[in-house]
Amino acid sequence: MNKDIEKIADLSSDEAVCNLLENIEDEQSTVFTRSKSLKPCPIGSSVSGVCCKNCGMGPCRVRENTEGLCGATLGTISARNLARHIAAGASAHSDHGRDMAHLLALTAEGKAEGLKIRDELKLFRFAKNLGVNTGDKSVNEIAKEAAEKAMALFGQQTGALDLIKLAPKKRQEIWEKYKVIPRGIDREVVEMMHRTHMGVDQDPENILNQAIRTALSDGWGGSMVGTEITDILFNTPVPLAAKANLGMLQASEVNIVIHGHEPTLSEIIAELADDKELVDYAETKGANGINVVGICCTANEVLMRQGIAPIGNFLSQEMAIMTGAVELMVVDIQCIMQSLGELT
Ligand code: SF4
Repeated sequence: MNKDIEKIADLSSDEAVCNLLENIEDEQSTVFTRSKSLKPCPIGSSVSGVCCKNCGMGPCRVRENTEGLCGATLGTISARNLARHIAAGASAHSDHGRDMAHLLALTAEGKAEGLKIRDELKLFRFAKNLGVNTGDKSVNEIAKEAAEKAMALFGQQTGALDLIKLAPKKRQEIWEKYKVIPRGIDREVVEMMHRTHMGVDQDPENILNQAIRTALSDGWGGSMVGTEITDILFNTPVPLAAKANLGMLQASEVNIVIHGHEPTLSEIIAELADDKELVDYAETKGANGINVVGICCTANEVLMRQGIAPIGNFLSQEMAIMTGAVELMVVDIQCIMQSLGELT
């Protein structure tokens, strides 16, 4: 194998990744090898202009002094493109939050096997912030009502999202002044997509105001719901010590990598890694135990609650498989590279 070690060191600051890249077959495709052959798309630079494909008359490539077929200017198209990115990101975070709200409701009804309310104090605070009258209701009754209120935030049409009031007062006043307080989570994303469609909102500033409202519907809506409920169901994290990187894969154990964004299944897998029956079974197959490690945001979830080792970030997922040491990679949603299928 004749590889330029210095060039490989430029690809990643992670020594373990570089080590693997030095030792893989030349024809093996990874994000790092593809990054060497794939040139960045030039559209979007000041020279090449921006591209709009928001209607069937396009795509239109527009520069400083030109317009799209519909007359859309560089400023309008740039604002529309950024706004649509924000809507896509907000929808991904928020849909995760929606799933967590469903899970909280199922847990409250006793229909989510293996799950229970673990942080009652946080549940009470969350419920109160959503306007639930906790009174002398049971924990599960409060959880059910809070879950329903959280789900209603997605379809809310008017007013302001309840959780906005958790932001510093001064910040809320600025949002009020600029009229960007979100009314409902889904509503802002849908309106963003509508307003950036052909022939609708053509004022870049007005488009960006809605983009801010959409981003706030994520941060103080969908993402906030997701974070609060994750703590309620799996405990609020506390500082802890853990080891990291690909070296946490164990040669003598069954290595299970949990990867993605939702902790629901992963938290349970991590909890069961020490289950005697499962460990005994692994031993009958010649392993010394079960080693659960994480990649990407799911890794962060189980790291901060259970001290599970994160073996890498988004860019390391292919590397983990290519070590040959991984028996199972369990993926949920978001950041799962399509190329993984080729490697397994
Ligand atoms: S919306 Fe306008 S700029 Fe965009 S693709 Fe259609 S015609 Fe072209």
